[in-house]
Amino acid sequence: MNSGSCLCGSINYQIIGQPGDIVHCHCQTCQKAHGAAFSSVAAVKEQNFKLFGQEALNNHESSPGKFRYFCSHCGTQIYAKREGSEDIILRLGSLDTQPDSKESHHIWVSQKASWYSIQNQLPENQEY
Ligand SMILES: [Zn+2]
Ligand SMILES: [Zn+2]
Repeated sequence: MNSGSCLCGSINYQIIGQPGDIVHCHCQTCQKAHGAAFSSVAAVKEQNFKLFGQEALNNHESSPGKFRYFCSHCGTQIYAKREGSEDIILRLGSLDTQPDSKESHHIWVSQKASWYSIQNQLPENQEY
């Protein structure tokens, strides 16, 4: 079982099964939200995602219908969710375990930080 938590420990979660394929998102919104060059994410069925510490969870609607959930105490990004979707988009940096999921591709390379060079052979999508 994979599990994760925020930096301060107010939020913990467990995942039944493995997350989906790993995508590295280079969009400017992820850069801001994560304070980093890119965000590594994977889809998890919401029914397989058990979160503890719900009262510490806050969210920001970063684009219409898309909410980014984070710890209101320490700021760790936990997951994002689109209205009506059965999946959450897990922020893999919040994991405490090493998932078996494999790297798939890069997205939003058109917005990639100039100070970061992609050094692998994964497919690169300019947008989604
Ligand atoms: Zn926290
Ligand atoms: Zn992004």
